[in-house]
Amino acid sequence: MKNPTIIFTDIDYQREGKQVDWLHLPHSVTRSAYGAIAIPLAVIRNGEGPTVFLMAGNHGDEYEGQIVLARLIQELQPEQIRGRVIIMPAANLPAAMAGTRVSPIDQGNLNRAFPGDPLGTPTFAISHYIETVLYPMADYHHDLHSGGSSLRYVPFCSMRKSGDAALDERAMAALMAFDSPISMVWAYNPDSRLAGAAAARQGLVSLGGEFGGGGHVDRSSLTMLDRGVRNFLRFTGVMRGQTPDAPSGKTRLMEVSSLDHYVYSPEAGLLEPAVDLGAEVRRGDLAGLVHFVDNPGRAPVPCHFRRDGMVVCQRHFGRVERGDCVAHLATDC
Ligand SMILES: [Zn+2]
Repeated sequence: MKNPTIIFTDIDYQREGKQVDWLHLPHSVTRSAYGAIAIPLAVIRNGEGPTVFLMAGNHGDEYEGQIVLARLIQELQPEQIRGRVIIMPAANLPAAMAGTRVSPIDQGNLNRAFPGDPLGTPTFAISHYIETVLYPMADYHHDLHSGGSSLRYVPFCSMRKSGDAALDERAMAALMAFDSPISMVWAYNPDSRLAGAAAARQGLVSLGGEFGGGGHVDRSSLTMLDRGVRNFLRFTGVMRGQTPDAPSGKTRLMEVSSLDHYVYSPEAGLLEPAVDLGAEVRRGDLAGLVHFVDNPGRAPVPCHFRRDGMVVCQRHFGRVERGDCVAHLATDC
């Protein structure tokens, strides 16, 4: 028999009304022998209807989603909905409090930790709780990301192809309803450890998105995200008496469909980008030069784009190691 979660909570997922409380993950350390990590969670329920699960802070240094969901917890009232909205604004709480991608406790990356382990380190215990307690209750899921400290993104909402055509069709409809200026389809990323991949395995209509990056808070992304999340909630049917707006029809539908979309640094050094975020490039164009300021007699090493496309993501930090992602492209569907 599989081990159950050791996370405990006063939250009753069946209770009507609004609860803003914590999940308690036992964490026994020198300063607190019987201590627990208190991960915030809100449940707003009003009768029967769909369950929508919104999460952010999967990566702790991606802030726009955390802000928008904290705001939504303040604003959303039971009488506005029919069904249930579950909001987890700082999913990997230790990482969110440290402002880091991974947890400072176990170096765990929550978005590489599914399906998790109830008796593993904190990050894996959190992913296990999401996988075995929260996902089975939900019909719809949205996991809000940005590029974090090391990457900057042209902001977009996204869906991930799951291999289930009927589910992907519903996720695509949700993506169109979110109505961001760019809508992205992840048609390449075989990693089964992602939160979105885990949600799709359980049949949830699941969206994601990259809403900024560089370790700061982007105001235009916040505006886009705030509007888009409300569009998404209306789309799910959880907002009482509110029908979804017709999509503007202005979104640019793009995809990331192969490893060729990515450019990696061939050497460790100082990266000089050769293009701006948002640029349209051709195969063979220069993506950047890696300089060797500690050995300036050595010529810089170029890295090139491997296909045509739009630069939707660029490295934010100047220093690179061999194997760091310098940029990635998206292409029109
Ligand atoms: Zn992320």
